[in-house]
Amino acid sequence: MIQRIPGVRGAQAYLVQSSDGFAVIDPGYTGSYRAVLQFIIQQGLQPTELRWVILTHHHIDHAGTALALCEATGARLAMHRADAPYMRAVRPRDRMTFWGLADYLPARVARYLVSCAECDVRLLEDGETVAGLTVVHGPGHTPGSICLWSESESALFVGDVLNNERGLRTPPWTVNHRHAMAKLAPRRLSELRYQQAFFGHGPAILADADQQVREFVEQRTGPHPALPRERGREI
Ligand SMILES: [Zn+2]
Ligand SMILES: [Zn+2]
Repeated sequence: MIQRIPGVRGAQAYLVQSSDGFAVIDPGYTGSYRAVLQFIIQQGLQPTELRWVILTHHHIDHAGTALALCEATGARLAMHRADAPYMRAVRPRDRMTFWGLADYLPARVARYLVSCAECDVRLLEDGETVAGLTVVHGPGHTPGSICLWSESESALFVGDVLNNERGLRTPPWTVNHRHAMAKLAPRRLSELRYQQAFFGHGPAILADADQQVREFVEQRTGPHPALPRERGREI
């Protein structure tokens, strides 16, 4: 079962109940753990039953409350190996992006904002399974950006590999670690079959989502790219 968690600030958070236990995907901005805990209890679950907190990537609107949620529940954090260094107090210093503002905070302050330094993090690799979800690595937005695919639910958690705020789009260059890679990252999603897509930003697609993503990828990377003006605007 998949449920969107209400009251979370930042990106959209999801509760996933699988045969491999409960997981929260992207619990949201700093402080949002309270809304997540409240929702878990409303579902008749004990917070200690939460087994995994899974991050699609390290950005603070997805990950800011991850440490607090892990501490409140005993859940284990899972994220891609390439994004894990960004959760430490001394983060890699990449070129400036909007979310990269945290890089310029003093380490002691940044630690409370974005750090999971004390967590026993499970470092994910492409193709691994966590909480019944298959990891699909799509670097570009961040080095360790992932989608999470549930074959049994016929669903894909897209993270920020694509957003659906004004139709399907890859994120703008202002928030991408490597913009050219971010634009190509959705290509891999064409290999997967799923009815539903759940985004970090924008409404879910609840039927034929794989088809819509495939059409987007073909338009973007096919021999006759459509929407040239939209492409231009993102550069
Ligand atoms: Zn986001
Ligand atoms: Zn992001």
